[in-house]
Amino acid sequence: MAVDLHTHSNRSDGSETPAEVVRLAAEAGLTTLALTDHDTLDGIPEAAAAAAGAGVRLISGTELSVQWETGAMHLLAYFLDPGAGPLQDAMAGIREGRSDRNRRLAAALGRLGMDVDYDEVAAEAGGTGVGRPHFAAVMVRKGYAVDIPDAFDRYLAKGRPAYQERDRLEAAAAIDLARASGAVPVVAHPHTIGVGADDYATAFRALARVGLGGIEAHYAEYPPELRLHLAGVAADLGMVATGGSDFHGTYKPEIRIGRGRGDLVVPDECVERLEEARAALP
Ligand code: AMP
Ligand code: FE
Ligand code: FE
Ligand code: ZN
Repeated sequence: MAVDLHTHSNRSDGSETPAEVVRLAAEAGLTTLALTDHDTLDGIPEAAAAAAGAGVRLISGTELSVQWETGAMHLLAYFLDPGAGPLQDAMAGIREGRSDRNRRLAAALGRLGMDVDYDEVAAEAGGTGVGRPHFAAVMVRKGYAVDIPDAFDRYLAKGRPAYQERDRLEAAAAIDLARASGAVPVVAHPHTIGVGADDYATAFRALARVGLGGIEAHYAEYPPELRLHLAGVAADLGMVATGGSDFHGTYKPEIRIGRGRGDLVVPDECVERLEEARAALP
């Protein structure tokens, strides 16, 4: 059996509805699914209802971009329920910052000579949860890029001409807010913390000191040795190793739910460890 603890629906930058994400998880034989849309818990009620009908366990979650010493990184927060709470309340401000960044991004593309109207991008996103992949999709449709990765490589990625910064929580503050909200904070796809594989132990020791609960070791894009190495780093620091596909539907067409590029198996015991970390929260 297997689980998938990192997926996106069309409430952020995935292409499928929350219910469809759950259906695909059930079809893949997964026992547990976490829906981790960027900056929002909007899809959780729909996913939870679908999961109850499909015999899949749903873990509520989100994925936030936070600032750490070495740069921006992504933080997953598990068992974060919709409604009010310390992190949930802060997420409203994060969504405003995203909206403001999106407007500046549309303007920057205009200055670069591209006819990319913000309303078109919002329509691509289905109204809310607009992200760079939606810009990329519109750019591909209009012939400004050959595919989504090409749009990022040439225009949208950090350091490229259309890139716009946005306000982020500091990692330590986001970790505190997550814990205060009953959620377990986990670093997503750890290569993005901006240190080499040899320095993971040092970097994660510092993050463990500020309350990090886990590391996404079983990530679809990682070779088996790196997954094992990261799981070892997590175990040494008393943290949970989690894992997931980072499914985005058609926005990352090569990634399948639960299976990644075909070789991903996230063990069921990741969920048990995550539960223990939740029970240990103050
Ligand atoms: P945003 O949250 O709007 O800044 O967009 C970030 C999202 O864009 C990530 O969650 C990925 O889904 C996607 N993304 C980031 N970098 C790339 C890339 N180089 N190629 C394709 N997709 C990317
Ligand atoms: Fe994404
Ligand atoms: Fe991410
Ligand atoms: Zn993700």
